[in-house]
Amino acid sequence: MKSKRIGITTTVPSEFIFASGFVPVDLNNVFVTDINSSGFIEMAEVDGLPRTTCGWIKGMYGAVKEARNIDAVVAVSDGDCSHTRSLLEILNLGGMKVLPFAYPYDRDKAILKKQMEKFAGFLGTSFSSAVEWMGRLDEIRRKLWEVDRLTWEENRVSGFENHLLQVSASDMEGDPENFSKKVSAFIDEAGRREALPQPIRLAYIGVPPINEDIYDFIETRGARVVFNEVQRQFTFPSYSDDIVERYTLYTYPYDVFARIYDIEKEIKKREVHGVIHYVQSFCHHQMEDVMFRKSFPKMPFLTIEGDAPQKLDARTKLRIESFCEMLSHRETFSV
Ligand code: SF4
Repeated sequence: MKSKRIGITTTVPSEFIFASGFVPVDLNNVFVTDINSSGFIEMAEVDGLPRTTCGWIKGMYGAVKEARNIDAVVAVSDGDCSHTRSLLEILNLGGMKVLPFAYPYDRDKAILKKQMEKFAGFLGTSFSSAVEWMGRLDEIRRKLWEVDRLTWEENRVSGFENHLLQVSASDMEGDPENFSKKVSAFIDEAGRREALPQPIRLAYIGVPPINEDIYDFIETRGARVVFNEVQRQFTFPSYSDDIVERYTLYTYPYDVFARIYDIEKEIKKREVHGVIHYVQSFCHHQMEDVMFRKSFPKMPFLTIEGDAPQKLDARTKLRIESFCEMLSHRETFSV
């Protein structure tokens, strides 16, 4: 029998979904990798979603409508964003089944555990089966940590490859066994490469980009992303054997302060020369820009904004180019 597909709009404890025999499908990935991704946005606007709604939301709406093989969607009411919440209510009104989940803002472990137990109940699985799955998924996550190490320590992996593999950890491409093989083959091949030549090392922070050509463009300007902040979080780099604690160490759904601490630690370790903060049009995370700038006052910092899934526009290219040019003339760097 074909497995049921559960759409997710952000990283949720996928262990519970796999344990229930269902398959998680990250709707962000379905949208942004589809050849007709712009069509998804158009479809959402034709159905009445405002022009001033984030492109990811409209894209995910289109992905659910177009794919037509999503059986339910996980509704993260706390820890994602209000746009997602409204999106799921719209889908629910249209007949889509939604499964609620929430990350408690204060990282309260007892509340998070309760949320996980409820989630297990909705999916018809048990807490202990999910813990078993955590062990299986951790084998893949460890491989993704190695991909990340090959990126920043050995300089053998491009910023885009790093982005793509880490972002896929949210749903393990719906097939952990095959994804695991794919990552192993990648490590094997990347480990035999020559080191990449770009001397300027960048951190990419913020939500994953809607314009994926950004990485290749940066590399044509003598720089390379050696740290993808949010994407790396999808691999749970702060390890804990306890599934509840694990999901409290995940920085993205809570306050910005754990993210700031993580970014500072990683940009020092990876000897980063400059930070690119990507913000999405109409997204509340844009307001974090001021906090990041205050937190890293000496670090060269560029904020860029994306809207729709198309190639980088000329203005953004010019700004990235000038930023890389400026960094190429600097001799000392500090956070
Ligand atoms: S980019 Fe911002 S507004 Fe859009 S889905 Fe993500 S968190 Fe929500």
